[in-house]
Amino acid sequence: MPLSRNAKPRGRGADMKIAFIGLGNMGGGMAANLVKAGHEVRAFDLSEAALEAAQAKGCATFSSAAEACDGVDAVVSMLPNGQIVLSAYTSQVIDAVPRDAILIDCSTIDVATARETAAKAREAGLDMVDAPVSGGIAAADAGTLTFMVGGSEEAFRRAEPILQDMGKAVIHAGDAGNGQAAKICNNMLLGIHMIGTAEAFALAQKLGLDPQTFFDISSVSSGQCWSMTSYCPVPGVGPKSPADNDYQGGFATALMLKDLKLAMEAAQTAGAEMQMGERAREIYEAFDRDDNGGLDFSAIIRTLQ
Ligand code: NAD
Repeated sequence: MPLSRNAKPRGRGADMKIAFIGLGNMGGGMAANLVKAGHEVRAFDLSEAALEAAQAKGCATFSSAAEACDGVDAVVSMLPNGQIVLSAYTSQVIDAVPRDAILIDCSTIDVATARETAAKAREAGLDMVDAPVSGGIAAADAGTLTFMVGGSEEAFRRAEPILQDMGKAVIHAGDAGNGQAAKICNNMLLGIHMIGTAEAFALAQKLGLDPQTFFDISSVSSGQCWSMTSYCPVPGVGPKSPADNDYQGGFATALMLKDLKLAMEAAQTAGAEMQMGERAREIYEAFDRDDNGGLDFSAIIRTLQ
């Protein structure tokens, strides 16, 4: 599996004409970074406010995806879900782009729809990759996202310089859909170990252990994991994390739930039984239902204390 990390200076693909579709919380910052890297960015979003913000960051704005795609070298999309992605590509993008354009969908969507969209593009003679991201709004703004890319070697080679202008790492995960597969498997693991970390802290406290003391021990013992050492759910313990900001910002519970649902859907399709993944989905679903969807996902510890 080829692994490629961002080689500074950026801009190997500078001066390209790029359509950007979906300029919300994530896409807005990503499009701005393409502008900074020297590309001509042609933006389309259903929201007027998103288009105005994109214009202020140097994008040209258009009133349809098809118009934005006219004459471009590449398309990047950052949309809410698979249905919207499939519809945007099949009803507008695929017909509108020049045949040598590279199509890059960075949204988090289900594996099956990512594969279906790439197949539709291929039938029309177009290269497409799925390139979901790790990293939230701050990383999108800072250009420090990690991209997990699914597509042919050739499609990856063409997408890579554009993705490098928006991220710190670009990793080829295999054929179409494999970027999404990597993303949901990673986030399923993240959901599971965050709940595990929260339970360990809750039990430690109930047994009379000081959280900082437990952190000092477990973070250098076999229980250590990213949820503990980089993103501790207990305020005042470990490096600064959303817990230190009353669980504001960070990675929203609603987005964690979305990814866990995608993972469980994929598991069902693949005939894989995911006992911990399924339990994590149930736990986050209940937390989301109790009106906590906007809180960082590490706030799950509140249900245990
Ligand atoms: P968002 O809702 O802020 O942005 C989505 C944008 O897409 C909106 O501006 C909306 O108007 C636009 N849109 C919807 N349908 C459209 C269409 N048919 N044509 C054009 N524009 C359309 O969402 P976001 O937080 O930016 O997330 C985008 C994607 O990134 C999602 O798939 C999400 O799962 C993924 N993601 C988000 C985060 C995060 O922290 N926010 C982190 C990683 C991945």
